[in-house]
Amino acid sequence: MKSFEELCVAPAIRKAIEEMGYESPMPVQEEVIPYLLGENNDLVALAQTGTGKTAAYGIPLLQKINISDRYPQALVLCPTRELCLQIADDMSSYAKYLDGLKVLPVYGGSSIESQIRSLRQGVHVVVATPGRLIDLMERKTVSLAKVGNVVLDEADEMLNMGFTESINSILAQVPDNRNTLLFSATMSQEIARIAKNYLHDAKEITIGRRNESTANVKHVMYLVHAKDKYSALKRIVDFYPDIYGIVFCRTKIETQEIADKLMQEGYNADALHGDLSQAQRDSVMQKFRIKNLQLLVATDVAARGLDVENLTHVINYGLPDDVENYTHRSGRTGRADKTGTSIAIVNLRERGKIRAIEKVISKQFAIGVIPTGKQICEKQLLKVIDDLEKVKVNEEEIAPYMPEVYRKLDWLSKEDLIKRLVSHEFNRFLDYYKGHDELDIPTERGGDRGGRDSSSFRSRGKERSTKAEPGFTRFFINLGKMDNFYAKELIQLVNSKIRGKRIDIGRIDLMKNFSFFEVGEQQAGLVAKALNNIQYNGRQVAVEEADKDSPSGNVPRRDPGSYGERKRKDRPAKKSESKPYPKEDWRQFFDSKHEGKKEKKNRDK
Ligand code: AMP
Repeated sequence: MKSFEELCVAPAIRKAIEEMGYESPMPVQEEVIPYLLGENNDLVALAQTGTGKTAAYGIPLLQKINISDRYPQALVLCPTRELCLQIADDMSSYAKYLDGLKVLPVYGGSSIESQIRSLRQGVHVVVATPGRLIDLMERKTVSLAKVGNVVLDEADEMLNMGFTESINSILAQVPDNRNTLLFSATMSQEIARIAKNYLHDAKEITIGRRNESTANVKHVMYLVHAKDKYSALKRIVDFYPDIYGIVFCRTKIETQEIADKLMQEGYNADALHGDLSQAQRDSVMQKFRIKNLQLLVATDVAARGLDVENLTHVINYGLPDDVENYTHRSGRTGRADKTGTSIAIVNLRERGKIRAIEKVISKQFAIGVIPTGKQICEKQLLKVIDDLEKVKVNEEEIAPYMPEVYRKLDWLSKEDLIKRLVSHEFNRFLDYYKGHDELDIPTERGGDRGGRDSSSFRSRGKERSTKAEPGFTRFFINLGKMDNFYAKELIQLVNSKIRGKRIDIGRIDLMKNFSFFEVGEQQAGLVAKALNNIQYNGRQVAVEEADKDSPSGNVPRRDPGSYGERKRKDRPAKKSESKPYPKEDWRQFFDSKHEGKKEKKNRDK
């Protein structure tokens, strides 16, 4: 790895970036800085936010500025006000010791007059959102005649936002012999077209594999009914008491709604979207940056390019319309050698997109199981205890109040006192989860309709067939709803017994006393071995491949009744439930599958 000195970065800039803690160049800088310090060098760089791209183009741009010439010599175009401010701020910091060098951010939503005043006083670098720059150009208050370098930062997002026309008009006014540098997180056809039209002999570099998300990010998907999305979000957030993350929503309205609901229910959350005033957005961002806010509920556009470190989670409250946007979202976490988790809360209809995303990120989603109320309460309780242990006691400050406190609490035993303290912090969760059923995992029988293939859960439309889907093996298991055994429990059981390997679970048919489920053919042997003869809530589990020779493809070789009687410990058995497996149960299920066929045969006769 080379040093900044070896990359020929000027001493004044080196001094400034060293003060900022940049010890050595990041890969994108190592490649881009020397290239841009040369002459006539256009560039297409596929680099995600967080790779250090601002310094990669910012440093050489600044170094080439002739400070005595008080005209804009470099122009950076970017999609949003926040990004504009961030880039301008970074570049001003790099230029700290370049005496007299002026960087000006120009963006919509703030006074155009003060921007015009600054332009009149003379600036060297203009960082602009396209709309406001066009405004200034039309008022003839900015001259681009001496611009030698143009950067299109987050170019894909600018195109998504419909800035193509504006970019065309701006580039038409910049001298032809400029260098054009295009930075984009993704390479779409539209980006390739822009590159072809505006760049000459551009060098193309890719930092990290093309369209691959950060290596440190774990991707987890939770499949829920559409109606349960918000409850699922709350459960996930509750399960991670120290979460610091962004919840991405698709529309401004949805963003505001979700943020409002969370705030009303006591979560430390706020909204960020384009309908807020500039002052509101600044204030929310500031709160989030200094971690006064745990959850930022945001649209893609508002959160694009924001540089916030140490996010633990990114939550996709629904998937983005443009699959590639997923990479931008998940790239907000797992930065600077930290690990992070990108969570997708999806309903059946959205499963198709999961596979498309898996292709783009070259990784598979792990299947998450929504935490139960009990698991959440345990987690929250531990957090309360942990916080209590860690709390810093300022002996001196509290001393004057303590006699009165002791007097008031004198009648309570230590145990009572602890219980009260814990309940004080914890009742909100106990109360909520006491009154709410666990979330149901959707299957095509009870769930949203119309889903197509996805990575792990497959739908076969509304028809319930008894044959396994091609490529899948159908199993019988001697656990059913009576054992409180639902899809979630099945998935949990499989995951707990087969660690480190993703098992494709297909259709699940839950009966009262037993169930059928499908797994990928390749994994059938592994699943049968892992689940057979284990204990589940005190019962010996039996798993058998549903008999291939049977006309139904469904009936287990052994009578399910032979697997023994249920012993219910957790709730009093109802009359009907206290019986051993009634044989009719599975026979009925089997027969019902064939009734239609039988009827048809009879009719045909
Ligand atoms: P960017 O991709 O430009 O948004 O940069 C991501 C983060 O990395 C910012 O917080 C930069 O300040 C930081 N950064 C950029 N270059 C370096 C470097 N060479 N060493 C340490 N941090 C850096």
